[in-house]
Amino acid sequence: MRIHNFKGGVHPPQAKNTMECSTVSVGVPEKIVIPMTQHIGAPCQVLVKKGDYVKVGQVIGNTEAYISAPVHSSVSGTVTAVDERIISGSKPVVCVEIKPDGLQELSEDIAVPIVDSKESFVKAIRDSGLTGLGGAGFPAHVKLNPPKDTKIDTLIINAAECEPYITSDYRECMENTGDIIEGINHVLKWTGIPRALIGIEDNKPGAIKKLGEAVKDYSHITVHSLKTRYPQGAEKTLIKTLTGREVPPGKLPHDVSCLVMNVASVAFIAEYLKTGMPLIKKRITVDGSAVKIPGNVYALIGTPVKDVFNFCGGFSAEPKKLIMGGPMMGVALYSADLPVMKYTNALLALDEKEGSIPGEYSCIRCGRCVKACPMNLLPFEIDRLVKARLHDDLDKLNIMDCMECGSCVYACPSKRLIVQSIRLGKDILRRAAKK
Ligand code: SF4
Ligand code: SF4
Repeated sequence: MRIHNFKGGVHPPQAKNTMECSTVSVGVPEKIVIPMTQHIGAPCQVLVKKGDYVKVGQVIGNTEAYISAPVHSSVSGTVTAVDERIISGSKPVVCVEIKPDGLQELSEDIAVPIVDSKESFVKAIRDSGLTGLGGAGFPAHVKLNPPKDTKIDTLIINAAECEPYITSDYRECMENTGDIIEGINHVLKWTGIPRALIGIEDNKPGAIKKLGEAVKDYSHITVHSLKTRYPQGAEKTLIKTLTGREVPPGKLPHDVSCLVMNVASVAFIAEYLKTGMPLIKKRITVDGSAVKIPGNVYALIGTPVKDVFNFCGGFSAEPKKLIMGGPMMGVALYSADLPVMKYTNALLALDEKEGSIPGEYSCIRCGRCVKACPMNLLPFEIDRLVKARLHDDLDKLNIMDCMECGSCVYACPSKRLIVQSIRLGKDILRRAAKK
């Protein structure tokens, strides 16, 4: 099969320091905080109150909204608070705080789902609470049930893992190969998609070999080695690389007959259909220049990130910046008390040298940001318009197509804070559209 190239991209240092670190469990923390919004879409309504005893796997938040996913308790224990807290962004989110009793009693609701049709499969995936585990947090059942008039012919499994530092998907490939293949076969069977393509960057030969051996008996599943180039793992670039199809501005993967799922998401599907245990834990890479013992861990959803860092030996230097996700697209954390979320795939602590933001210089019109942009945008011009408050012209520059990959910033010799401008510009356009 021919591998295509996507336009642009950059080559940041890979820093895959934890590739050979097997995943170990952080255990049950002293306190859990579970936000009702951990996904794209409608927030969940809280189903428990202060003083309630909850069990592992119990649904503690749900909604009838289609684009959403239920949230489950990751521990057994007593609800100590239901209140609003700032998690990320500026909007408060309703959270359930639980004091674990350490018994990890399982909820009576946990049962292997009965799946005998596409409808029951999609319902089971919703009930599992699965949202994209690669970092995007999009409810998986919505992806698995595209509009009726679309025909999907290719399932793309994203194992590219192009962000520096992160190796959690690589560990998934190495430690959970069987579930990945089983999960892919479930998705193909119940959605009727005829083939699956697994894309992995060529800096992970171990995973390419292991998955390649695992798919030998399945002619409809193929493994593809991709050039190591950021952002190879972004949905639209991966589709272009593996199929040659371009998702037009404003369109989605299903508009070009593709469904993209993260490798950990399909592995979770296999496990859920065998055990009925909903999404309550995450495999996370812990790394960065301020982390004493980098590694890969399993953490229960809701575990304070400081507990995860402490499990990894704490800090070797005062962290200047904590990041949830990778250094290119991750979100800076304002506190180490914030909880692990469904979409957390990495926690980074950067020291003074690594975590400082360099000062901006004037744009020298060198065009490197344009060359680096995989979405064919004009980053320098968007940056100029936002900073000059010329918001009326932003729409013409397709700003909403920006995936905030940060390639333009990485390439810029003047260290322009282009992504911040783009986020601000998008927010301004969204508010204008609401009005
Ligand atoms: S952040 Fe947006 S503008 Fe910059 S390179 Fe990525 S897609 Fe292009
Ligand atoms: S890379 Fe930086 S300096 Fe060069 S054109 Fe883009 S914004 Fe300007």
